Amino acid sequence: SEINVGQMRVLVTGASGLIGKAIEHVVYHEGGKRDGEEWIFISSKDGDLTDLGQTKAVFEKFRPTHVIHLAAKVGGLFIHLKENLRFLRENILINDNVLQTAHETGVTKVVSCLSSCIFPDKTTYPIDETMIHDGPPHESNFGYSHAKRIIDIQNRAYFQQHGRCYTSVIPTNVFGPFDNFTAENGHVLSAVIGKTYKAKQEGTQVNVCGTGNPRRQFTYSLDLGRIIIWALREYKEVEPIIASVGVDEEITIKEAVHMIAESLDFKGKIHYDTTMSDGQMRKTASNGKLKCYLPDFTFTPVNEAVKMTCDWFVANYDIANK
Ligand code: NDP
Repeated sequence: SEINVGQMRVLVTGASGLIGKAIEHVVYHEGGKRDGEEWIFISSKDGDLTDLGQTKAVFEKFRPTHVIHLAAKVGGLFIHLKENLRFLRENILINDNVLQTAHETGVTKVVSCLSSCIFPDKTTYPIDETMIHDGPPHESNFGYSHAKRIIDIQNRAYFQQHGRCYTSVIPTNVFGPFDNFTAENGHVLSAVIGKTYKAKQEGTQVNVCGTGNPRRQFTYSLDLGRIIIWALREYKEVEPIIASVGVDEEITIKEAVHMIAESLDFKGKIHYDTTMSDGQMRKTASNGKLKCYLPDFTFTPVNEAVKMTCDWFVANYDIANK
């Protein structure tokens, strides 16, 4: 069918994950969709984006004018340590196929998702957007991190050589409905939600990995979804923008665990397994640039977002990834 002038056809890759589901919710349930816009949400079932032929077929089928690129090969700490080469190659392939096919088919805007784990391991705080390439990332997942960093290089090169406005956002620790709540692969907050729920059912204690002292910026997936949609429409820079709660909202893992216990009404014992690694003690990132663009944007307070995520988990226990 014809694309009318002013019409936007947005393709969201990797849309079956945490962030894609949040964008879908904002678009369909918070009035995020505007007249003349069509939104298409795809997952690996619609095509394997490590394969150029399948990527081209996806773009031919949906003919997007805009792309939100979320698809990525992501895993838990252990599998990253073992398979850095696989994460490097698969992500390089996915990103190169998506960006080059977008360019060849005339897509005017792409917003890709980087990650705060790509920042230099040895750095000063708070980290900002200008520091991405200043030193090597943490060695545990250097394959994934370098593939993500190259997205930023690609964006600059597509602008330099073809004038394309392909850009990226950098989220910090994201959580919310549809997250991975398993103890094995879930990020800390959602893994603890899954464990606490189970401990309450079984009358056991909750075991948290590490001391609980590391500090993190936890960003609610729906807030991030709203920011990504804003970036797609309004953000004109090629340079990345950190999409996260601010430095002031950084909390310890222990504080997050207490919010979860309160939300799930868990009164049992919480044990911090100090024989387990803490990971990085902090990776504080500044959202100053975002605040300049969106001074009035209010993030959902973390305790409310934790409560909503716990409520979602309990209400959707059957379908949750637990
Ligand atoms: P998930 O890991 O939950 O989902 C990954 C998505 O990518 C899924 O839709 C998956 O499809 C798709 N995918 C994976 N491999 C392929 C492939 N070969 N071809 C096509 N699709 C593929 O992602 P999140 O929502 O957590 O994250 C989205 C993006 O945000 C990622 O780029 C991630 O790196 C980034 N990010 C996430 C953070 C977080 O805290 N969650 C923090 C910072 C960045 P399927 O379901 O069919 O397998």
